[in-house]
Amino acid sequence: MKELEERIVSEGTVKAGNVLKVDAFLNHQCDVELFDRMGEEWARLFEGKRVDKVLTIEASGIGIACIAARHFGNAPVVFAKKYQSINLDGEQYVTSIHSFTKQKDFHVIVSKKFLSAGEHVLLIDDFLANGCALNGLIELCEEAGAVVEGIGIAVEKGFQGGGDSLRERGYDLQSLAIIESMDDETGEIRFRR
Ligand code: 5GP
Repeated sequence: MKELEERIVSEGTVKAGNVLKVDAFLNHQCDVELFDRMGEEWARLFEGKRVDKVLTIEASGIGIACIAARHFGNAPVVFAKKYQSINLDGEQYVTSIHSFTKQKDFHVIVSKKFLSAGEHVLLIDDFLANGCALNGLIELCEEAGAVVEGIGIAVEKGFQGGGDSLRERGYDLQSLAIIESMDDETGEIRFRR
């Protein structure tokens, strides 16, 4: 998606450790008009697919997923929680993932009442790096017996391999910008074509 690539180039910063900062429009301050056009683009890319539910992970995926859902017949959005809380009651699907940015292990938790066998689910997230977060969401869907209909990602860091291994496993993964390489010294960002 050309507009997203342009925003990454003009407003993103490359940090040491292969981290791209896009907090001016994607995951701290949010450009909701951009989110809306991203949703429109995923709707085009996933045209004809059955989407009963959109599943994401807190926190940065939530805003993007909610606006994207407007383009999928206002499908309900469920976000996996990373922390147990008193508001999380009843039976749950739980798995464990490793966070690339925080260098920590997290639980990924969804209440059983919000994910059911036979539901067709679109997974949405802001970033895809090694694929740990998405693998966690996929495991929750498998546990529930839900069908992963597609995966929509805003920014995929192609050089970290998570996306390619999901494609090899047969998932319909649509990333709106795929970074082939980035350099924290020069700030240069190259996209996959
Ligand atoms: P993965 O689990 O695929 O390794 O990483 C995906 C998660 O880590 C995303 O949900 C995102 O929150 C975070 N993440 C990974 N790489 C980056 C990055 O370069 N920049 C930002 N802002 N977040 C990232």
